Amino acid sequence: MARKATDSKNGFSGYVQVKGARENNLKNVDLQIPRDALVVFTGVSGSGKSSLAFGTLYAEAQRRYLESVSPYARRLFNQMSVPEVDEIEGLPPAIALQQQRGASSTRSSVGSVTTLSNLLRMLYSRAGDYPQGQDILYAESFSANTPEGACPECHGLGRVYEVTEKSMVPDDSLTIRERAVAAWPTAWQGQNLRDILITMGYNVDVPWKNIPKKERDWILFTEEQPVVPVYPRFTVEQVQKAIKNKMQPDYMGTFTGARKYVMQTFANSQSQLMKKRVSQYMLSSECPVCHGKRLRKESLSIRFNQMDITELSRLPLSGLHDIFSSYAKGNKKLHKNTAGGHPEKVIVARRIAEDMASRLEVMLDLGLGYLSLERSTPTLSPGELQRLRLATQIRSNLFGVVYVLDEPSAGLHPADTQALLRALDKLKASGNSIFVVEHEIDVIRHADWIVDVGPGAGVHGGQILYSGVPEGLQHVADSKTKDYIYSINHHTEAVPRTPAGWLKLENLSKNNLNGLDINFPLGVFTSVTGISGSGKSTLVSQILVELISQHLGQKFAVREDQDADGLDVTILDLEKDSTKTVSGAITSGAEGIKRLVQVDQKPIGRTPRSNLATYTGLFDPIRKLFAATPDARKKKFDAGRFSFNVAKGRCPHCQGEGFVMVELLFLPSVYTPCPTCMGTRYNAKTLEVTYQDKNIAEVLDMTVDAAWEFFKADPAIHRGLDIVRQVGLGYLKLGQPATELSGGEAQRIKLATELQRSQHGSTLYILDEPTTGLHPADVEKLMAQLDRLVEQGNTIIVVEHDMHVISKSDWIIEIGPEAGEKGGKVVTAGIPADFAKAKNSHTAPYLSKYLE
Ligand code: ADP
Ligand code: ADP
Ligand code: ZN
Ligand code: ZN
Repeated sequence: MARKATDSKNGFSGYVQVKGARENNLKNVDLQIPRDALVVFTGVSGSGKSSLAFGTLYAEAQRRYLESVSPYARRLFNQMSVPEVDEIEGLPPAIALQQQRGASSTRSSVGSVTTLSNLLRMLYSRAGDYPQGQDILYAESFSANTPEGACPECHGLGRVYEVTEKSMVPDDSLTIRERAVAAWPTAWQGQNLRDILITMGYNVDVPWKNIPKKERDWILFTEEQPVVPVYPRFTVEQVQKAIKNKMQPDYMGTFTGARKYVMQTFANSQSQLMKKRVSQYMLSSECPVCHGKRLRKESLSIRFNQMDITELSRLPLSGLHDIFSSYAKGNKKLHKNTAGGHPEKVIVARRIAEDMASRLEVMLDLGLGYLSLERSTPTLSPGELQRLRLATQIRSNLFGVVYVLDEPSAGLHPADTQALLRALDKLKASGNSIFVVEHEIDVIRHADWIVDVGPGAGVHGGQILYSGVPEGLQHVADSKTKDYIYSINHHTEAVPRTPAGWLKLENLSKNNLNGLDINFPLGVFTSVTGISGSGKSTLVSQILVELISQHLGQKFAVREDQDADGLDVTILDLEKDSTKTVSGAITSGAEGIKRLVQVDQKPIGRTPRSNLATYTGLFDPIRKLFAATPDARKKKFDAGRFSFNVAKGRCPHCQGEGFVMVELLFLPSVYTPCPTCMGTRYNAKTLEVTYQDKNIAEVLDMTVDAAWEFFKADPAIHRGLDIVRQVGLGYLKLGQPATELSGGEAQRIKLATELQRSQHGSTLYILDEPTTGLHPADVEKLMAQLDRLVEQGNTIIVVEHDMHVISKSDWIIEIGPEAGEKGGKVVTAGIPADFAKAKNSHTAPYLSKYLE
């Protein structure tokens, strides 16, 4: 391997010295890390890598930077807390490229994240082809987010939204009292509207479909807002009598038709959740004026390379690169055709084309050539987004900074990882330090310096096992990482299981899949692999999930537990319904599947009110144990008393949150433990009750490992905890808020919850890159669990890049051959031994090396 002179300590330009780091589980550790080098932080999950790289080094760099800016500017930052560390010397300013937990919620696109859209707008404004008589437009006129640019019909959304009777009244056998008008608000507002209709003499107790059309239309579509007396507690007869007798009403109520309510809420509500709710009752279709292009007619009339700006933004980045490289080379014929040969325009076009081409090159290098500028960021995977931001940084010409990255190889096929390493090398070559938290062996092997954290997770970790050049790691006895790098070979030849049957799918189309036929074996473990952008997720997480759901009759709707992404997600879902529906069908084998479970990495809850114990269902039996104690029975406390979500048991001051928000002048608000309950979340009376000398708050503060000891006498709870330990999460606390879990941890909790159910087989499990965030040692634990599910007669299909997982599969499918338009086909499929011999596959060479 061609490593530079960095093998000796003297090869580094200087060191960052850390003394007394105690963030989260770190055990007061000291270490030194070289600058201007690629430093990789390794260790099993939960060992403390992120606490060191992000929680300590990055947080301290950011804190120092913020001290140097004005208090006003400080408020604009999403400030991290001050790290627990005695001293850090020699630390350069830092930029974090962290993977987001959960989907991105901002309304941005590939073009805006990379700032390429700005350049493109400048190009159209200054060097575009204008029709005769058309004035020059400013760059803003080419943005759908400005009044100058937005299509006036759809306000730049590209789609128009409308409501129909069917969309607002999904079930017309219900009466108005039974909430036939589902689009109306719930709770008090909904009752108010119903009571107004009663006053106005409408029959709210017959099925909606039996109400005359004229009346139905008025209730749904009227713009009128009559104000009438309301008698909320009266029966229909009493209301009629009250009106006749001109009795004093409770209040005067204002009627709002359902369409008016939906449209107004969608346009004006400040609450993303409200917007999202009403959008369920709207239908969307392409804007008839701009045909989805989102811009004004005038803006779309300007062309470059014979295309309007939206058409250009829809090309894959690789296609854009082709176009701009020809312009950058000064191709005279092209320039003549486009800029009408106008000398000034030719110069501008060439300058911008050069800049575009070189920026695009970096993105192609990182394997992102299949994306388009128009693609919205919520549809990107966290790994794709991180690499986009990385590409943008590589072009920013900064030097002397530390880039802190979180598993940049996530979502990358080994073939793509090489390109990633080249990109990191470029950043380093321009004089920067690169700190990455990583599990991927190829990245670890490429490091100039390794910091191995461990040996175990949580309280069993937090120590620095090794900090030095890679070669030295092999002598560290406790390191689990070294076993995998210096492959002490873990491969054992397994005999692939025989499928119980085949699930056959035909003519599948969506995204880059076009009429694909494919078969998945049932009752075995299948890995679907292929380079990034080849179509794996489209096939498995989108098409397969949707077709199986349809087959099982599960309603394919927005899942409530994934909300709070607000509007963007909703609009995407609407689009999905109307324009991007899956085509294709299951032709046989579906009868072997009785249940579908998608175990993804999405967060398991967005509020600290959801935690490990509540999500896994372990909290219910624990609360029952407390309610069954003699003390609780004497005090008449039921199980509900021991929930921090129920008023009678929780702390009244913080309402069971355990912390309160403190507003600081000029600084972001901070959370501090509640002064009344000291962060325990419960009121004093509830905490008086103990089970085996522990109160409920003390139990929630236990790790799963500790609770497993503690609840030994209770088989049901013990068994549940055992499964959580087996997926490698014994270090988490029972009360660990869902918001503090990583995507990988969330995924394994879902898996543990699933494993707790008694299994009857015939379930299809779908997992998208379950190894993300997992150390190879954890991957083995995960595989053991998945194996158990297969042994029970279930089918598992995973999208994976990890050779360990792929080599242990019963069946492997590679999608490709390349990304985007050049992908979407089955390249090879077979059992590992046969697959490894395939000629045209990107995966086979890596697999055969692994199988050696
Ligand atoms: P790694 O990056 O190695 O997976 P982390 O640094 O994320 O590990 O976590 C180390 C330990 O600190 C774990 O026990 C984890 O549960 C705990 N931890 C992480 N984040 C927090 C937090 N915000 N509050 C409390 N504990 C945390
Ligand atoms: P993989 O999972 O193999 O990385 P994907 O299935 O995510 O690949 O993507 C395959 C192709 O479909 C790519 O060209 C990608 O840009 C495109 N694609 C994926 N999701 C969407 C989407 N929501 N909207 C538009 N294009 C998409
Ligand atoms: Zn429009
Ligand atoms: Zn409190």
